Amino acid sequence: MDVTLLGTGSPIPDPHRAGAATLVRAAGVDLLFDCGRGVVMRLAAAGVFPAQLRAVFLTHLHSDHLCDLNDVVTTHWVMSPARTALPVHGPARTDEVVAGMLAMLRPDVEYRRAHHPDLAWDPEVPVVHVEDGSTLDVGGVRVTVGATDHRPVEPTVGYRVEHGGASVVVAGDTVPCPGLDRLCAGADVYVQTVLREDLVRAIPAPRLQDTLDYHSTVEQAARTARRAGVGTLVLTHFVPGCPPGRAGEWAAIARAHFEGEVVVADDLTTVTVG
Ligand SMILES: [Zn+2]
Ligand SMILES: [Zn+2]
Repeated sequence: MDVTLLGTGSPIPDPHRAGAATLVRAAGVDLLFDCGRGVVMRLAAAGVFPAQLRAVFLTHLHSDHLCDLNDVVTTHWVMSPARTALPVHGPARTDEVVAGMLAMLRPDVEYRRAHHPDLAWDPEVPVVHVEDGSTLDVGGVRVTVGATDHRPVEPTVGYRVEHGGASVVVAGDTVPCPGLDRLCAGADVYVQTVLREDLVRAIPAPRLQDTLDYHSTVEQAARTARRAGVGTLVLTHFVPGCPPGRAGEWAAIARAHFEGEVVVADDLTTVTVG
């Protein structure tokens, strides 16, 4: 099983980091977790076209985790040789987001249908609402859903992907919580979005200060990893940013609280397990 960090940025625009998105490939099945800024470009760089994706999973409905879902859906639709659905899994209200996105795409769908007679179907984007304890089988790959805590955003979820005895958790934005601990228990890889409290506190912008109470700090992510006994902690979604050459600082903070492997991901960093 391969985990590729497609985008390791946060809402703050960063020329080196695309928005939140993670590709998990297991048993030849490509699963996409979140669809942040630039996801289709990074998928292409990873050698995957959207038409190859089997399913999309959203951790929550913040824009930085789904702003390019429309590009994934359109490119999947236009480049699929035959009628193929792209299921989108997500917490409650994902149906609202997908309906609004499809409404936005309506003129484009009509133009392309009129221009390409062999494109005889509309984008098919069935929504599957998930919640704590949901389990899914996607092409023989098991996906388990756990409630996370990103309040006041709720509900929010994380995902555990399992195949062939290997397990990967894509946690999304969350502070430490029992649902996250359950999801991570004994996982080979735990991907956590993180912030640096020391850096955020040094920036006198109220909207940035507001982010402190609903994200895991690097220390908290490392402690979750240790509690759960995970093998590799992968840090991503760096707030307020991790410029080139600074990854070592972030890794050192995590290593002070977690004895396993720590990866400070860049876009297209891949971790292989199993
Ligand atoms: Zn968020
Ligand atoms: Zn986020």
